[in-house]
Amino acid sequence: MFRITLPDGSVREVAPGTTPADVAAAIGPGLAKAALAARIDGQVRDLNRPFEGDTQLALVTAKDEADALELVRHDLAHVMAEAVQHLFPGTQITFGPATDDGFYYDFAPPKIDGKDRPFTEEDLPAIEAEMRRIIAKNEPFTREVWTREQLIETWTQQGETFKAEWAAELPDNEELTIYRQGQWLDMCRGPHMVSTGKLDPQAFKLTRVSGAYWRGDQKNAMLSRIYGTGWLNKKQLDQHLFMLEEAAKRDHRKIGQEMDLFHLQSEAQGSVFWHPKGFILWRQLEAYMRRRLDAADYAEVKTPQLMDAKQWEQSGHWGKYRENMFVVPDEVPNTADEGAVLSGEGDLMALKPMNCPAHVLIFKQGIKSYRDLPIRMAEFGCCHRNEPHGALHGIMRVRQFTQDDAHIFVREDQLVDEVRKFCELLDSVYQHLGFDSYAIKLALRPEKRFGSEEMWDWAEQSLRDAVAATGRDTAEYGWEELPGEGAFYAPKLEFHLTDAIGRTWQVGTIQTDTVLPERLDASYIGEDGNRHRPIMLHRAILGTFERFIGILIEHHAGRFPLWLSPVQAVVATIVSDADDYANDVAAQLRKAGIRVETDLRNEKINYKVREHSLAKVPVLLVVGKREAEEGKVAIRRLGSQAQTFATVDEVVAMLRDEATPPDLR
Ligand SMILES: [Zn+2]
Ligand SMILES: [Zn+2]
Repeated sequence: MFRITLPDGSVREVAPGTTPADVAAAIGPGLAKAALAARIDGQVRDLNRPFEGDTQLALVTAKDEADALELVRHDLAHVMAEAVQHLFPGTQITFGPATDDGFYYDFAPPKIDGKDRPFTEEDLPAIEAEMRRIIAKNEPFTREVWTREQLIETWTQQGETFKAEWAAELPDNEELTIYRQGQWLDMCRGPHMVSTGKLDPQAFKLTRVSGAYWRGDQKNAMLSRIYGTGWLNKKQLDQHLFMLEEAAKRDHRKIGQEMDLFHLQSEAQGSVFWHPKGFILWRQLEAYMRRRLDAADYAEVKTPQLMDAKQWEQSGHWGKYRENMFVVPDEVPNTADEGAVLSGEGDLMALKPMNCPAHVLIFKQGIKSYRDLPIRMAEFGCCHRNEPHGALHGIMRVRQFTQDDAHIFVREDQLVDEVRKFCELLDSVYQHLGFDSYAIKLALRPEKRFGSEEMWDWAEQSLRDAVAATGRDTAEYGWEELPGEGAFYAPKLEFHLTDAIGRTWQVGTIQTDTVLPERLDASYIGEDGNRHRPIMLHRAILGTFERFIGILIEHHAGRFPLWLSPVQAVVATIVSDADDYANDVAAQLRKAGIRVETDLRNEKINYKVREHSLAKVPVLLVVGKREAEEGKVAIRRLGSQAQTFATVDEVVAMLRDEATPPDLR
């Protein structure tokens, strides 16, 4: 008999051959129906796969959303592949994993007159209909263990050359399995649900097609990839489709163009050309951050863009990070330099991919005492990282970026309090920038790591204590510990913003580091008169200005709070008689500190209103003959049809508070 321990601690004795499905049925018919899979000693497995010994068992239901979604998406990938092969004979299968919001499958498309016929979006409705037919048939997913020879023979017989190639390379020490539904089968590790009927036929949608190379290598055959999104029920699918639609409307690249904020071009892959309006936004954000850092006792520094390869070698970046660094030859090396070695990599330099080593070099200037700590060193540091062109995305993922970076050098006894202070500062910044919801996560020690277990215990507990001291280690703040997700040298706190349409963005981070101070030999004199290593905290609140501005654009859909808006008001004339008055109004507003423009063009006022609302100008002040005579303006706020009248003084009084950065109100 096997002993099966359930989550409540109760134990059931079962005979060999018993499955988790049997246990679910023995507990009750409700659970038997709700169970989608089983967690066996932590691993998700098929409900019908017999127990192999004494185990811990937890039944997976739709309530275990992450597990349930993974199962559904993987099942859908198989169902889609069956549907495609049924509808398009001659199609070969390759791979089809679950993704963050669904699944895809890569097919070698069928041939027509000897030429590939890749799938198009027009094919998708028919494939969806066929998938629904397969789901309605409620075909069981069955798992079978095969030998490699069996696999190769079957795939070869079926003309599946890609699968046969892959089967020949599968590792020897692994059980080789296939999953079958009806007549269709695929090589697969599983797990799957019990049958296709467990899928909600209304909870998936095929979204797009693209090309993909076999094994991701462009020397190989071009495959045809079909993407789908898959959910537990229709409500979830609808929410997701709505979110995608909203995300497309809010795309920062589109809004950036409509508002004339920035552009990108191929001559400077991954580096942003900030236009005057975009750079006003940048400057507002930077000035705000600088005031916050000044008030929190940070000292701002500026460090070199280029440093010698030897320096990067010492910091460890040359070994680990070199492929992401822009390396620059030092073409006119200063041979007069004492001890200059012009061999090997001595005359190479690199653009900094991060600011950390340079900050340690500043720390090392002069002797530091325990009384000098904490030292909080901030830099709006411009860094370069060489990312593949395909990975770049608008201003969200770039190759040249500016971090709101800072390093805090602390003694052990100061760590918890410094991290707590950082959490408080970050909270206030996010609130000011219009984000009231964010999650805090603690990334714990990874499998491969430096340092002793005591160091990790202590560092992890310190971060936990710091968050607890702010009272934010709660469900409301999405407090969660992520085993294995820390950096190899230390644990870190991550701060994930939730935007207006429910997407999350990891932006803020703080992590402890004892390795870099050691590598670069940074020390301070302790109370005992001896040399000690400081702990270095790497931290950022925004992450990078580029990405954060991208997030701000998408979060606010370009309708920034007034204090961040590049243009806060436009004075637009109805008739040219009012030009002088419009200039006069603009001058008064400018004097009051409002960023204002005039629109005196000889265009219809409705045309002007439309154009400025597309450019997301928050306040439009319309002036005609009557307004000029009465000394008033007609006010229209972005997104509202209402129009009110007021004097310029009243307008200034109305906008002053909103136009002032929140930390100065
Ligand atoms: Zn599979
Ligand atoms: Zn750093």
